[in-house]
Amino acid sequence: MTTRASVLIVGSMAFDDLELPHGTFPDTVGGSATYASLTGSTFAEVRVVGIVGHDFPKETIALLDSRGVKTQGIEHADGKTFRWAGRYAPDLSSRETLDTQLNVFATFQPKIPEAFKSTPIVLLGNIHPALQIDVLAQVERPKLVVADTMNFWIQGEPALLATMLTKANVLIINDEEARELSGIHNIRRAAAEIRRRGPHTLIIKRGEHGALLFDETGIFAVPGFPLEEVVDPTGAGDSFAGGFVGYLAAHADKMNDAAPPSGKTLRNAMLYGTATASFCVEGVGTSRLHALASVDIEARVTQIRALFEL
Ligand code: AMP
Repeated sequence: MTTRASVLIVGSMAFDDLELPHGTFPDTVGGSATYASLTGSTFAEVRVVGIVGHDFPKETIALLDSRGVKTQGIEHADGKTFRWAGRYAPDLSSRETLDTQLNVFATFQPKIPEAFKSTPIVLLGNIHPALQIDVLAQVERPKLVVADTMNFWIQGEPALLATMLTKANVLIINDEEARELSGIHNIRRAAAEIRRRGPHTLIIKRGEHGALLFDETGIFAVPGFPLEEVVDPTGAGDSFAGGFVGYLAAHADKMNDAAPPSGKTLRNAMLYGTATASFCVEGVGTSRLHALASVDIEARVTQIRALFEL
């Protein structure tokens, strides 16, 4: 029998103003915790901690509830929800941040509910590294800490990010961020340098080209799934992370105190994370994830395996 564990996800809940090649989509609900909770909940129970303002849609909270996400850790503050604005290149291969308004995030102090403190797997979504560290100070010895970050924090809070890295077991970032964080252009040497700073496993996302995993035994690659149409890449990284930790929680029987998830389990989780993220980009914002089911992900995993298995 497979033992299922829960996942604690901490991250942003946001309004995104998206400028995509096919149109502009203001006030799109997003945020790292929103994407990761929607995808993680396909696999396992998600416990989410974040903050929203008075303007955040009740429907989104209800959607998370309907997917079994435990939402009592979402603080409802008197103010405006975090807002991010981004513009994508015509080929969707890159984007620039136009604006970041922290709003209620500026004074956010995560409070992990008692019932969440012993959650065995923690995903520190992309938020201020001081908040990520604060969360780890509140939880009780999780078996696995998975962290995400972005260039905004690599440039803005390098010292706190360095501290956070010493506490993370797995770091998930993209290739550009890996180069920036390490100061090394060669991706393999960049990975070695980042692993030296803390995380035993580093996953480098390479957009449509898939992802690479680096650990003490070597390198593992999962190709990206070539979709006929990519609509909106926003949240793909967070969806990957949610799928990754969700898979690990759903396979918690392969994890005990003495042995955190093995390299093989982490590699499988990467395959499932990749499959999960491929759904995210098929619709604007979180739209494609609202009804995402494990059968959809299994089917996509089979299609991805067929790309490289002879
Ligand atoms: P991704 O495309 O996976 O990198 O994630 C995009 C999501 O990250 C968007 O929904 C944004 O609301 C959120 N986001 C962007 N910048 C930040 C930031 N500085 N802190 C927290 N979340 C952010």
